[in-house]
Amino acid sequence: LPNIFTAALPVLERLENGGFEAYFVGGAVRDLLLNRHIHDVDIATSAYPEEVKELFQKTIDTGIKHGTVTVLYGDSSYEITTFRTESGYQDYRRPDHVTFVQNLDADLKRRDFTINALAMNLRGEIIDLFDGLNDLKNRLIKAVGNPEQRFHEDALRMMRAVRFMSQLKFKLEDKTKQAVKDHHQLLKKISVERIRDEFVKMGIGPHSRQAFQTFLDTNLSEDVPDFAGKSDLLAVYPKLKFNPTEETSFWSVIIILLKIQDTQINKFMRDWKNSNAMTEAVEKIVTLFDLFSERIPTDYELFKAGKTVLLNTIDVAHILGQPIDSEALVDRYMALPIKSSSELAIDGRFLIKQGIEPGPKLGKMLNTIKEKVIAGELENNEEAIGAFVAKQD
Ligand code: ATP
Ligand code: MG
Repeated sequence: LPNIFTAALPVLERLENGGFEAYFVGGAVRDLLLNRHIHDVDIATSAYPEEVKELFQKTIDTGIKHGTVTVLYGDSSYEITTFRTESGYQDYRRPDHVTFVQNLDADLKRRDFTINALAMNLRGEIIDLFDGLNDLKNRLIKAVGNPEQRFHEDALRMMRAVRFMSQLKFKLEDKTKQAVKDHHQLLKKISVERIRDEFVKMGIGPHSRQAFQTFLDTNLSEDVPDFAGKSDLLAVYPKLKFNPTEETSFWSVIIILLKIQDTQINKFMRDWKNSNAMTEAVEKIVTLFDLFSERIPTDYELFKAGKTVLLNTIDVAHILGQPIDSEALVDRYMALPIKSSSELAIDGRFLIKQGIEPGPKLGKMLNTIKEKVIAGELENNEEAIGAFVAKQD
């Protein structure tokens, strides 16, 4: 058993000794059986939140209303959630209220896919009510129960389905896939932020091209921002050379495939509720990519882009199968005399001491000096730059 589980065994033990049932549940059990990296373990228990809090010294009220208490134990923290069912899905989004229950079965039944509905007790016994082990073996994403009903309860599950396809390299089980096809428009009820989070996880998963094909085949793509009617352009994605592994690369590739104009990138990123930082990074990458397709960038343009943007743009070109001499570009970047403005040997104060008056002229002079240093036409030291300044006007 991986350390992350053994470290959590005393937590289960304490719950059992307190007279309650307790199990590992959800993604951690799935990932354990798939031999994947496990980032956190979730625990389900028959104990009510107040009872959990009595058993442990350090707890955080993470989501008491939904039954979740975070327990700090050893060097780790664990989300412990009371067995529950969800009822009254009013708007295809989240349940109106949860009902605590006394047995595990109902709790597993509310979970989205059979592979996510496995539980394991502290003796390592697996509880598999929905044949999830078989679906793990056959690498299938299959809804627990009636897929149509499950997607009506919570339409985000349709995006989770394609996300797990990409992350786990699984296929979508036939009936589950048909239900997505028939009900993709329910996605319109879901907030863009939640769709985006699943979409990005899909986009940077190791099977994103296959998952994206399903995202298109089921018409989920018609119900997300700015994609409606664009399936011809998006159909290139599954045929790409490589899968993106970073979020910036993923968005850049999507924008390039959609042939979005430079001036419209900002709107597109905002429609998807992306952060300003993400938007700026993507704008820089797409701009440099466009430049690459026209001509070889100058040293100054490489300087302006900076190392991260350059490497990301090379990554994007690679994914798109665009031939570029990436080694030469990186070599040229690494050979630049300065890599950021702060590395310039002089600043504005130096120019003032040289007799240049503060104002626009000084700014222009500073820029000229920077460009000449980057182009290798001027040495980056006070002496050489002082002599250059003296020669002007
Ligand atoms: P990850 O590795 O991304 O954390 P995960 O399977 O743990 O994957 P979470 O979103 O952390 O996914 O959810 C934990 C568990 O809660 C899932 O395994 C599933 O059993 C259940 N779950 C989460 N979201 C839903 C949902 N929308 N509908 C039904 N069950 C869900
Ligand atoms: Mg999880």
